[in-house]
Amino acid sequence: MADIINLLPENIANQIAAGEVIQRPASAVKELLENAVDAGATEIQLFVNDAGKALVQVIDNGKGMSETDARMSFERHATSKIKNIDDLFHIKTMGFRGEALASIAGVAQVELKSKKTGETVGTYIEIENSVVKRQEPVATDEGTNISMKNLFFNVPARRNFLKSNASELRHIVDEFIRIAMAFPSLFFSLTSNGQEVFHLEKGSLKQRIIQILGNSYSAKLVSVKEETDYLNIYGFVGKPETAKKTRGDQYFFVNNRFIKSAYLNHAVMNAFSDMIAKDSFPMYTLFIDIDPSRLDINVHPTKQEIKFEDEKLIYAFVQSAVKHSLAQYSVTPTLDFDLDISIQQSDAVSKPFTPEKQYSATGTSLYKTFTQKNQAHFIETKSDLETWDKNLLKQNSYDTPFTNNLEIQNGQKNDFPSPFKNPVLAKADKNPTSGSLIQIQKSFIVAENENGFIVIHQQNAHERILYERFAEAMQGKPISVQRSLFPTAIELAPADSVLLNELIPDLHILGYQVEPFGNHTFIIQGSPAGIPDGNEKDSLEKILEQYKHFNMDISFSKREKLLRSMAWQQAIKAGSFLSEKEMEKLVEDLFNCKISNTTPNGKPVFLEFKKEEMDKMFGR
Ligand code: ADP
Ligand code: MG
Repeated sequence: MADIINLLPENIANQIAAGEVIQRPASAVKELLENAVDAGATEIQLFVNDAGKALVQVIDNGKGMSETDARMSFERHATSKIKNIDDLFHIKTMGFRGEALASIAGVAQVELKSKKTGETVGTYIEIENSVVKRQEPVATDEGTNISMKNLFFNVPARRNFLKSNASELRHIVDEFIRIAMAFPSLFFSLTSNGQEVFHLEKGSLKQRIIQILGNSYSAKLVSVKEETDYLNIYGFVGKPETAKKTRGDQYFFVNNRFIKSAYLNHAVMNAFSDMIAKDSFPMYTLFIDIDPSRLDINVHPTKQEIKFEDEKLIYAFVQSAVKHSLAQYSVTPTLDFDLDISIQQSDAVSKPFTPEKQYSATGTSLYKTFTQKNQAHFIETKSDLETWDKNLLKQNSYDTPFTNNLEIQNGQKNDFPSPFKNPVLAKADKNPTSGSLIQIQKSFIVAENENGFIVIHQQNAHERILYERFAEAMQGKPISVQRSLFPTAIELAPADSVLLNELIPDLHILGYQVEPFGNHTFIIQGSPAGIPDGNEKDSLEKILEQYKHFNMDISFSKREKLLRSMAWQQAIKAGSFLSEKEMEKLVEDLFNCKISNTTPNGKPVFLEFKKEEMDKMFGR
């Protein structure tokens, strides 16, 4: 029988390897930017055309490559960054696997110009499908200029798998931000189709955060900084009032490498618990510097997941460091920071710092002699606290696989008063109510029906109504629009403006007349009827926030996310007084919905209490 095993040709092997490293244009962006950082560049420019599908180009002023190195760099497992297995545990560079350029050259057309510092001529190389097409000397600046064109031109199946330009561009912006955030002392720019989207001058971390996330964070950042023999942590968290409905502005870097860690995220959220509303996410940009031998970054091809030698210790450290800075900023009696276990377990450290405690701390004469000018992050405690929705201050509960020792308690949030342990979810039948409607607690509408009575949650009901109305608009049923008295300008952080551009066509259908106005600015000319004049900007910002929040859930289509965001944003809130007329309209609209009994997210809209069941409860 003939032997059947072949060695794969190099270009095929590279294409397969590329599957892990280069999934989309943004993956190439990450690898090329990291190479520029590793080369010691101080200025790094990124250019993309067609969301990177046509071109991803990175120009750096780093140390460049010799002629031989330039050629070698495209070989698989070719790296200047490690030499033996021991080096793997002392990594100081972003790259080390020697796979990126080989992978890129396997799935795109690549042009490289590079010149080593101090040399007179540089090297030009053109390579496609892993085959070198041209190599010659070239006059070029010191540093490296690499272009990746027509990604996946030779793997059509993968090219077809790419998302819309708007969506691919957003991935690119995400990767760009993660690297630019980690290296504030370097200049970065991002130009998309000839338009400069980011221009980030060298500066401090604080300046970089504001450059990227927007001016709204200036004066709203609390510094985190703790040093121990084991590790250092530094960075910033947003003051509690800047917490948003989206998880977007959260960055963890370990030895300057962006990582995703639900576990460490939980540590920060825990430090914030009781200071922010449930379901809201604080901004954080935190850096952990740790001896590289205490972690394994080689567990994932794109290195976004890492393993720590002692994960629990890091958790405790992160949580304490963040709590400590929040406590300082909130003017608590200062705790001495120490990883000593007895201190760790003391109430002051392990129990959340509640607004009540904060209030009592700031009420003391000790506090009052403590003048504001000594406080770097002074907040107006009383008024701030009073605006916090008491209902939202219940202990947060996060869905995480680890529960011991993490202060997770079940909130009583949606529990119905105890006599009604198992309220029966009523089915949607038309015309289910009779008689007059009563509003209770400015939140619920009680209506009698033939079986008993139903309690409608006004906010959930309105969310359902709006959702169906917007869904119909998407099907072509026009929505009434009011033109703004004065057009409002809205200025967004660069990443958000990329997002808004993506949503504009659908927003038009839904009644928002928004137009780009250059430089991350947009003009709102009109909004769906019902948005109070002057609130157009605010409502649109909230929709974007909510959209980003839903964005974490990739199972929804873009439209679905937008519909849900708008319905959520525009629904009348619990706590709003409704007139008799308004209640009637709400109930009528609700029972004209295709589905009346749940919100788009599956929360109950009304509960039915049947007479016979109530009789039983009363022992009749
Ligand atoms: P890795 O970064 O893991 O070493 P890459 O495939 O990304 O692997 O790059 C291979 C090698 O090419 C690097 O080790 C480095 O020596 C060289 N190189 C890549 N990009 C640059 C650059 N922008 N400037 C200088 N050298 C570079
Ligand atoms: Mg690399």
